[in-house]
Amino acid sequence: MFTDSRARSEEAASSEVFGASALSAPSPAWGWVQAVLLALGGGVLAALFWLPSVGLHAVWNVLIPAAPLLFVFFPGLWRNICPMATFALLPRKLGFSSRRRMAAWTNRALRWAGLAALLLIVPLRHVVLDISGPATALLLVTAASLAFLLGYVFDWKSGWCSGLCPVQPVELLYGRRPLASFQNPRCAACVNCTQACNDSDPERARSAMGKSGMRPINLLTAGFPGFVWAWFQVPNFRPEYDRLAHTLMAFGLPLLGFLISALLFILVRSRLLPSHRDVLVRVFATAAVVTYYWYRLPFLVGFSPVAPDGMLVDLTQLLPVWTPFAMRALTSTVLVMWLLPPSRSPRHWLVRPPYSQDHVVVTADLSSGRARR
Ligand code: SF4
Repeated sequence: MFTDSRARSEEAASSEVFGASALSAPSPAWGWVQAVLLALGGGVLAALFWLPSVGLHAVWNVLIPAAPLLFVFFPGLWRNICPMATFALLPRKLGFSSRRRMAAWTNRALRWAGLAALLLIVPLRHVVLDISGPATALLLVTAASLAFLLGYVFDWKSGWCSGLCPVQPVELLYGRRPLASFQNPRCAACVNCTQACNDSDPERARSAMGKSGMRPINLLTAGFPGFVWAWFQVPNFRPEYDRLAHTLMAFGLPLLGFLISALLFILVRSRLLPSHRDVLVRVFATAAVVTYYWYRLPFLVGFSPVAPDGMLVDLTQLLPVWTPFAMRALTSTVLVMWLLPPSRSPRHWLVRPPYSQDHVVVTADLSSGRARR
């Protein structure tokens, strides 16, 4: 049940948690940062066509490796500056969005589609994206077009940022214990554009399928550690490889890893920890991000059996041979210590802005997917 009283108590809780200043107007500086990053995004897109090695490094060896750490500690910061979100909100900001409110079943379908896109796009990196600037550019243009279209049809962030975006399931997976919350400079006033707003209520977004049935975030939690581990066992395509065999391996191995990981989750939960699901969720979420940096950080500086795949700069001649061990020990310790303990109190990624005068009062039944106004 999501009513005015819930809205008011949520606002009050926000004030308590974040202080009185939390509900003041967001700084105009956010707008400048968003504009600069949108322009930078345009520059990266151009580089992918005309300076592909620069563009590929910018996307796959700078932005993407930094993203999981942002999701863990500052998911709200990322949500405020993501250039794709800025693009998705252009129709709303420029005043020509149809501003439809997202129905529960549409939200559910978009979240499943976003998860499916994630599980297809990541393996596609080894096949073509990591080695082809135009292919990565085409992916970004396609994503931006979909984001713009959804922003044209649906209100605020419901269509893309809390719907189809293939990155938002990973934000929900890792962003369980943010270090800080931020104001929400994107939504002028909250109109309850969706029942499952990732920014204002990530816990509710995680249960967007209701109490029964498999949720996208549950499936991702169970399968992602195996998926990430297996993905790092596949090299990028090289001309001497057989194209078909490599493509089958690039998709098959991560998806097999996903399946094994999910089965392990189910087995442990049903046999060993039937009443400790929360513990298992934290263990699997932590395992996924630890596994990612276990491989990714050493690879970035050249310590990799598949170099130059995923290498930003070759520092193997400068750094001592124990560098990968130090990197792994440091990142694993920090991430385990931060993500594994239970949350002291739920913290939103962003403070919900004040409700609009005409915000929709919703009675939501998420398990059945109905929403009544
Ligand atoms: S804060 Fe309100 S208007 Fe903005 S995305 Fe969340 S539900 Fe929609």
